[in-house]
Amino acid sequence: MRLCGDLTVGRLVKWLRMLGIPCDLAAVKRVEAIPEGALLLTRATSLKSKNSLILPYEKPAEQLRYLFRKEPTLWEKIRPFTLCLLCNAELEEVSREEVFGLVPDHVFKTQKRFRRCPQCNRIYWPGSHHGLMKKRLEEVLGRPLTDDQDG
Ligand SMILES: [Zn+2]
Repeated sequence: MRLCGDLTVGRLVKWLRMLGIPCDLAAVKRVEAIPEGALLLTRATSLKSKNSLILPYEKPAEQLRYLFRKEPTLWEKIRPFTLCLLCNAELEEVSREEVFGLVPDHVFKTQKRFRRCPQCNRIYWPGSHHGLMKKRLEEVLGRPLTDDQDG
């Protein structure tokens, strides 16, 4: 199952990407425009169909919990911080040497592991931000997340 969020659930889409669950973002105005094979996540009741899930909540945290209740198989797909939050592309491991000069000096000095988006070349590393996001996601989902970027 491929997930696609429309513009009414942009923040949810970003949270899914943080969890490592691929989710496209697209402006969908009509049921016929839902990408083939995708489950559309939306707030718009006008898009109700067998290929959409209408999220009856405004807050992304509640939307996320609702989605996991409706689609429990998503639990198995969680791989935190393995996707680019902007492109939805799978990040590639890169060596420290490769990111020299491309990340701030203090980051280069303190971080050991880096990943890069093959589409936009943005570089990711587990920093303090990462820890906060993980904690927030764990609070929302009510269970710990294993994170293969730790250590
Ligand atoms: Zn990217």
